[in-house]
Amino acid sequence: MVSDAIADREKYGAMLQVALAEARTGLAEGGIPIGAALFTQDGKLLGKGHNRRVQEGDPSAHGETDAFRRAGRQRTYRDKIMVTTLAPCWYCSGLIRQFAIRTVVVGESENFRGGIDWLRENGIEVIDLRSRECVHLLEKYVNQHPDVWKEDIGEDQASGETERNARPQ
Ligand SMILES: [Zn+2]
Repeated sequence: MVSDAIADREKYGAMLQVALAEARTGLAEGGIPIGAALFTQDGKLLGKGHNRRVQEGDPSAHGETDAFRRAGRQRTYRDKIMVTTLAPCWYCSGLIRQFAIRTVVVGESENFRGGIDWLRENGIEVIDLRSRECVHLLEKYVNQHPDVWKEDIGEDQASGETERNARPQ
């Protein structure tokens, strides 16, 4: 079983590299460096994408939704793996539950914890790879562009209110 765990970690680590490359593409485009990819359990890439809020002026274009849309229609999502450089927000956590994706791999949850506790409470396997590369890439961006980041996680800049810790019911 230990060797299985190591094999899984290597498999998920390789998948994360695809999402990380997308995050870097987003950064090079002048956007928020968050990337994602949708895979089958045996490692076939179905779609990949990145946050396009800045590039397309679209606040709903998150890494996960971009990858999900590019994967096209799938017969089922139960056997798919959503891989993302950052823990999914409430909106993307809702997408994961709506389509019954059973496995989520996150690069990190330090910059933003999002809905991972909620996903776990609902039986979804969430694997946090605690990637320093992912933490540093986003951390640097957040420090340089705090306003864009606050906008992305739904913090109301006018009132200073935050939705990040609210629980979706
Ligand atoms: Zn999201």
